[in-house]
Amino acid sequence: MIKKLLDKVFSRGAKASRAPTVVPVSRHGLTRERISRCARRTCEGLQEAGYEAYVVGGAVRDLLLDLEPKDFDVATDATPEQVHAVFRRSRIIGRRFRLVHVLCGQEMVETSTFRAPHSDDATHQVKDEHGRLLRDNAFGTQQEDALRRDFTVNALYYNPATEEILDFVDGMKDLEARRLRIIGEARSRYREDPVRMLRAVRLAAKLRMDLDPGTRAPIPEMAELVQNVPGARLFEEMLKLLLSGHAVACIRQLRAEGLHHGLLPMLDVILEQPMGERFVMLALERTDERVRADKTVSPGFLFAALLWHEVLAAWNAAQARGVAPVPAMHEAMDQVLSVQAERMSVPRRFGTDMKEIWLMQWRFAQRSGKRPFRVLESPKLRASFDFLLLRCESGELDAEVGQWWERFQNASDEERSRMLLPAPKGAGAGRKRRRRRQGGAGESSSAAEQVEQS
Ligand code: ATP
Ligand code: MG
Repeated sequence: MIKKLLDKVFSRGAKASRAPTVVPVSRHGLTRERISRCARRTCEGLQEAGYEAYVVGGAVRDLLLDLEPKDFDVATDATPEQVHAVFRRSRIIGRRFRLVHVLCGQEMVETSTFRAPHSDDATHQVKDEHGRLLRDNAFGTQQEDALRRDFTVNALYYNPATEEILDFVDGMKDLEARRLRIIGEARSRYREDPVRMLRAVRLAAKLRMDLDPGTRAPIPEMAELVQNVPGARLFEEMLKLLLSGHAVACIRQLRAEGLHHGLLPMLDVILEQPMGERFVMLALERTDERVRADKTVSPGFLFAALLWHEVLAAWNAAQARGVAPVPAMHEAMDQVLSVQAERMSVPRRFGTDMKEIWLMQWRFAQRSGKRPFRVLESPKLRASFDFLLLRCESGELDAEVGQWWERFQNASDEERSRMLLPAPKGAGAGRKRRRRRQGGAGESSSAAEQVEQS
């Protein structure tokens, strides 16, 4: 027992004392001007107060690869309370990891205290029955902090004061070789946090790096552990992946690694239906183009696209059972969203957007009477129309429908009236019969108006 303890102390002590490789600016070329103002101020503030502070993680990696960092993270030996004491405009957040958000103007820098990697000593760590870390708040040395990070290229510490990079894990070598390598033993790192498998796929696609063979090998057999990750975290990660600007590459890679099962349940099914696959891939291509052109992308639109063919199938099935189109659509949407929620919770605000886009697809099918005019007033017209065009382009709908709506939107009122299609035969009688069957819906409450109210 004592021997085990001593072994641990010594082996850990020996590891912790191994000096990092110090890479000077003359070799890596990353000067401090490229670090955001807020990240520099955070490091300076902490260093002036006597602490160590470095820019770390994705920002250092991206800058070394000549990519625009999404955000800047700082790592320090100051505790969250000490960081908070240095910066008036800061707040402590988080449960699984406690972090400090340091604010300067509009910018925010996430500042985390050096943490120890996993160890057999479970006092600061809580795991679930699959070995997944639930809480991980043991503070540690800088080297320990490097070792608990996910990939070697994500564990480079940049000191803006000296412009040096501290490298504990041969991350610079991997970066130069464009190799994404997990730190430590891949299997246990994936067991601790299965999201690392998704991150591996996403980062490899985004950084155009190859997965190191040892990092890749266990993924297919461990993929099912992703099922144990809470839905909200999975959604965040999936969103990062889909909005990375490399969604098409990521999805292809996910499929190649067998990771698409259980993420978006049915994504595998969708991708196996030729029409569904074409539609999803087109939507992802468009999204990638927009992200790369710095245009906004709506997550609601994206998820509406991913699940559209499921909604369509459920809608058709309900109508085949004799349910009227609009109630059938509501039934289909609720069914698809609730199956989805079992695996990956799509936040309610996106759910609302998705439903509006889907319902508008029914409304686009109505091209006679007053209905097309009401469509023009919908706040979701732009997104829903883009969605309609995707459906046309994927071959699900006749291109003529998209062209008609394009013209209709740009036409004068007079031209619009001329464009209307004749009312389908028997439609009026059918509507009346349905209204009576549904009971209670007042005289003026047509199916279209019910849609508008929803
Ligand atoms: P990007 O911001 O481009 O998505 P990133 O690597 O910066 O990529 P963040 O989620 O911002 O990703 O994480 C910041 C850093 O925290 C990472 O670079 C890595 O060092 C560490 N990290 C993030 N997620 C994990 C994880 N699941 N396991 C271990 N370390 C992680
Ligand atoms: Mg980041």
